[in-house]
Amino acid sequence: MADTAALTYLDHAASTPMRAGAIEAMTPFFAEQYANASGAHRFARQSRKAVDESRDRVAAVLGCQPNEVVFTGCGTESDNMAVFGAVHAHGGRPVCSAAEHHAVLHPVEQLDGIVVGVDAAGAIDIDALRTALVAASDVSIVSVMAVNNEVGTVTDLEEVAAVVRRHAPNALLHTDAVQAACWLDLRTLTPHVDLLSLSAHKFGGPKGVGVLAEIGGPRIAPLIVGGGQERDRRSGTHNTGGIVAAAVALEETDAERSTEGVRLRELSNRLVKGLQAQLSDVIETVPVERKVAGSAHVCIAGVESESLLFLLDQANVCASAASACASGAMDPSHVLAAMGVDRDVALGSLRLSLGHTTTAADVDRAIDVIVPAVEQLRTAATQRTAQRR
Ligand code: PLP
Repeated sequence: MADTAALTYLDHAASTPMRAGAIEAMTPFFAEQYANASGAHRFARQSRKAVDESRDRVAAVLGCQPNEVVFTGCGTESDNMAVFGAVHAHGGRPVCSAAEHHAVLHPVEQLDGIVVGVDAAGAIDIDALRTALVAASDVSIVSVMAVNNEVGTVTDLEEVAAVVRRHAPNALLHTDAVQAACWLDLRTLTPHVDLLSLSAHKFGGPKGVGVLAEIGGPRIAPLIVGGGQERDRRSGTHNTGGIVAAAVALEETDAERSTEGVRLRELSNRLVKGLQAQLSDVIETVPVERKVAGSAHVCIAGVESESLLFLLDQANVCASAASACASGAMDPSHVLAAMGVDRDVALGSLRLSLGHTTTAADVDRAIDVIVPAVEQLRTAATQRTAQRR
């Protein structure tokens, strides 16, 4: 096991530590309250009650009805369910932005859907979306993420919804809000969309619990069929403890959102400015006013992120380059490519993401480690070039 006390963890967009309240809430469901929530006895009804109460709590944070909340196995499943479920139910083609997480992008590609470009900050190009919807008469779902997982850009969903409702009135609008829960008031998103995905491990809940909110009731086909749980929307025995913990974590996140937003905006600014003060050519990938408070994505000229991540890892600093699942690949991320970031610049990308456990000391230590690591890599690159001459 890693000695977490010695770690400087700046990879919260990949996964954030569970909140103590969430761990406490789920613990009884491991050994004491283990009954299947679908059972017919009183012991099972306790589990059922815990799931139903959690559904009420999640719905309150989303500003929707409890019967619109479907618990799933993860954010990926929620995204897959939205895209495949809409096309299975209504036929037609899906549409998404080029900067979506692969959990949306790959289903859209598999279904021969339409991928719309993004602007230089990574938000969907609204004119290109309009053009795509006008040209295609058979769009059944449009999926546009609320917050980008790599660079932290916030999408104006109200604007997206206006275009979708006008030019594809029969299409469903889905948002992947997996990276939004810590930073945006989810009640401001639900009025604009038909479907919304969440993942508990991004807001202090456990891994393996997702939510798909079906606003206005079910209009898509289920992805997983079997025992008929979740009112036939998603079969499979309820992960009772996980669901309980997800609801607690979401409530706590919601209650702390505005104060945490201010605190973490200060810290992410301190991090980027601290790097820029000591290193040349550190580009802040997305301007502060367009991204969430916890995102500090930079592109550092003259280094390859893989080598940089290796040095940071040696010094117990956890960060990432592309999205977690894609890191390790040498190609620049599909998000940076879609944003039009130059390949050489994109190869020096570093995703630093802050969360509820991040302190000023973490930020300062990260700067102290990153600066010499970049200097070391730049010196080595200069020496290699000189030797080749
Ligand atoms: N969507 C976005 C924007 C994400 O950041 C992630 C996780 O990185 C997912 C979907 C997938 O969520 P999960 O890890 O719960 O499958």
